[in-house]
Amino acid sequence: MVQFGLDVLGEQMQFSISAEQEQMKLADIVPWARTVCDSVTARAVHIRRRNGGHIACKKGCSSCCCYLVPLSVPEAFRLRREVGAMPASEGQRAEQSCLLAARRILESPIPDLFTGESLQEFLPSNEEIDTVSEWYRSLELYCPFLDGGICSIYGQRPLCCREYFIDGSAAACKGESEDAAKVEVPVRMSEVLARLVAELQGRNVEAIMMPLALIWADENQVRDHKTWSTLKIAERFVELLEEMVEDSFVAVVS
Ligand code: SF4
Ligand code: SF4
Repeated sequence: MVQFGLDVLGEQMQFSISAEQEQMKLADIVPWARTVCDSVTARAVHIRRRNGGHIACKKGCSSCCCYLVPLSVPEAFRLRREVGAMPASEGQRAEQSCLLAARRILESPIPDLFTGESLQEFLPSNEEIDTVSEWYRSLELYCPFLDGGICSIYGQRPLCCREYFIDGSAAACKGESEDAAKVEVPVRMSEVLARLVAELQGRNVEAIMMPLALIWADENQVRDHKTWSTLKIAERFVELLEEMVEDSFVAVVS
């Protein structure tokens, strides 16, 4: 078990992460990231509310579920594992929805910046992220896991979804108003995971579009099966948090 403290927006938060095995796969890191993400985001939202902000996000509000959702590599492998563990009919529905969405993406005219690049793995600059996001929104493609306006994988939803909150009007998410601002979080856990994997595997930082994640994970099973020392991954996970968190941060590893 690794315990550490985070000074997040003026509050000392304690975390403990653990694993039963001495070796772990990339997908096993995701629960740690979810734990930190949920606590840190809740703190950021709390501060925003305390300062008079109006957080519009609530169950059934889903205009943002047609935005681009990039997954880190561990999240893609985790999603594959979690869809595989669903009851048969639910899993088949999820697979089918992802396949249909993936087909829509792969059949659409893609931005020039993808020329010569893999569509499933992309490493854009901030400007390119805007370009890709606009292109993705133009597809008007809702997330394959949105079911009747509700997230069907809420407990397992991606880190990008977990940390996305709006202060202002939900109409802004439909492009009907400009009265909204994204609630900034002190650290983006998807970026922590992306950097961790880049280091472990000696690769560029990667991100995978959510509807393509199952296909991508199937094509990269060899990477999914590789294991690392749990203690080493845990220590580097905390170190990266220390480097990437904004605001003051104190980590005590024991
Ligand atoms: S980000 Fe916008 S669309 Fe999504 S839940 Fe919040 S207010 Fe609703
Ligand atoms: S995973 Fe859930 S919250 Fe995220 S985009 Fe899909 S339906 Fe929306």
